[in-house]
Amino acid sequence: MDSYAVIGNPIGHSQSPQIHAAFARQLGHSIDYSRLLAPIDGFEASVERFIEAGGRGMSVTVPFKEIAYERCNQLSSYAQSAQAVNALKFEQGRWVGHNTDGLGLVADLIAQGIKLSGINVLILGAGGAAKGILLPLLESGIGGIDICNRTHDKAVQLSNSTPPNYLVRAVSMTELTESYDLIINSTSASLQGINLPIPSSVVSPSSCCYDLMYSSEETPFNQWARELGVTKRFDGLGMLVHQAAFAYEFWRGVKPDALSVMEKLRS
Ligand code: NDP
Repeated sequence: MDSYAVIGNPIGHSQSPQIHAAFARQLGHSIDYSRLLAPIDGFEASVERFIEAGGRGMSVTVPFKEIAYERCNQLSSYAQSAQAVNALKFEQGRWVGHNTDGLGLVADLIAQGIKLSGINVLILGAGGAAKGILLPLLESGIGGIDICNRTHDKAVQLSNSTPPNYLVRAVSMTELTESYDLIINSTSASLQGINLPIPSSVVSPSSCCYDLMYSSEETPFNQWARELGVTKRFDGLGMLVHQAAFAYEFWRGVKPDALSVMEKLRS
């Protein structure tokens, strides 16, 4: 039986085993997928032991995405752009790294019926998640991206890291005057139970607001959007399931249907 795992620290909260078990059932595959708690300074040794025991691939979560990126022998363009790896495949002793987070976000937006062509996008935050979603969003045909982050220099660095043919700008909170078609909260503010001091002018009733955090309760960002009359509001559960489907395809060459699994998780 092919063996996979999600590695992180902490890891108890991860929904990846449920998601991948559902994908395997759907496709009639027989796989083993477990949680692997690695010591903070023991990522590489834990992965090597997993490979020696016959492990085929891994999902990588906080705080190991950047170390995994550094260690890989081969990287996809998305992993290179994100400078982080969330899916590992082991082939003849080589570590092959991919990043499916941004692909998952774009797939979820499309599945939710959000039109991407030519739209203007605001990304709040410039951390690991923002890096991961940038290239897939740009490749999806959107018009341009403004990035706004508490530490402005990081937004500048991130906007400068994109290929010159794309329209990406770093903007400060005081420069936020226009409205955007899509506003993505990639900060960890919602995890802290707080919302950002965003001017209400960034949303119009037709805007879409997407919080990368997922929760059984409405996130502070989505509550803010609802109070402003925004009807298209999403949390990151769809992105989580879609990114897992891309990881499954990376390992096994066939892409599961994410939507049915997402519906089950929601209910
Ligand atoms: P990072 O720690 O790499 O980045 C955090 C970002 O949030 C930084 O830009 C930071 O700004 C900003 N930030 C943190 N606290 C505040 C605050 N109080 N006010 C304003 N800005 C703040 O985290 P990640 O990028 O890895 O994760 C961000 C979010 O994305 C999390 O909620 C995570 O759960 C979610 N996520 C969801 C995924 C999914 O599949 N749905 C996948 C990956 C992430 P500064 O630079 O100034 O510190």
